[in-house]
Amino acid sequence: MARVETVQGPVEADALGLTLAHEHVRFRDEAVAAQWPERYDEQAELDAALEAVMAAKGHGVQTIVDATAMFGGRDVRFMKRVAEETGVRIVACTGIYSYDYLPHYFENRDVDVMAEHFVADIERGIQGTDIKAAFLKCAADAAGVTEHVEKIHRAVARASLQTGTPIMAHSMPAVATGPRQVEIFEEEGVEMSRVQIAHCGDTEDVAYIEGLIDRGVYVGLDRYGLEMYLPIDKRNATAAELLRRGHAERLMISQDFCASIDWFPAEAAPMFEASGAIRNWSMTLVFEEVVPALREMGAMDDSAFETIFVANPARWLTA
Ligand SMILES: [Zn+2]
Repeated sequence: MARVETVQGPVEADALGLTLAHEHVRFRDEAVAAQWPERYDEQAELDAALEAVMAAKGHGVQTIVDATAMFGGRDVRFMKRVAEETGVRIVACTGIYSYDYLPHYFENRDVDVMAEHFVADIERGIQGTDIKAAFLKCAADAAGVTEHVEKIHRAVARASLQTGTPIMAHSMPAVATGPRQVEIFEEEGVEMSRVQIAHCGDTEDVAYIEGLIDRGVYVGLDRYGLEMYLPIDKRNATAAELLRRGHAERLMISQDFCASIDWFPAEAAPMFEASGAIRNWSMTLVFEEVVPALREMGAMDDSAFETIFVANPARWLTA
């Protein structure tokens, strides 16, 4: 059985158990945090992470895939502390989370040099630790697959080929980035069973999602609670239809929850809930509302649950 790197060290893939495939124990801008650390309350961030992960653990979660890459404030020491204090495994990644911007550092170095940085995180360790990245992250959003975004995708693909590490690509169904992202990975020769296209659940367009699944990738229905992109009931209708069409083995269900996030001032948070932009967004929403609803709709049985929350993440991480 293949092994998977976690912030607590490598584990056998079949020991990962119940897994949330896309969450963040903390999300913040690393440049702002480095320049104005006094603007951040590290203890409050740690407390929020511990509370979120413990709540997930209360639903049986044993492993959390943390998709925080460069520009999301990736900090594997913080992740390790959360993992050790909760007893929940955390799987870390390497890569660059950018919708277009690239530092001059990477603008003026080629794709293969960028890939070398990712490979170092996978083979040697991250941020001076011996914690290794278990997957690669890239993103395409409203701006589409720009030149810089394509460069990151190709670097991620080459690092994947060199190391056998899987890929998670943030996507934006509203502008249909998925097919082009998959195409780039195909051009680079990546095996499609190693690729997860995240945030496909932001659309009700089942044909669009099925089009991606037909190319062999995993798709993330992973933003439950982010009502501004799509409300829970519509997400459930899409998930149920995909399950009815027999796609359980290609689905990841998660929340893309950020235990803390610095994108907005703290006083804005209650407004998001009040305005309906988010609803019950947490690391437990899928167990409290989504799985029960899908079961009631007759779309999810025990075997589909096991496939989605146990087998799929392990298979994607090790295929
Ligand atoms: Zn995310």
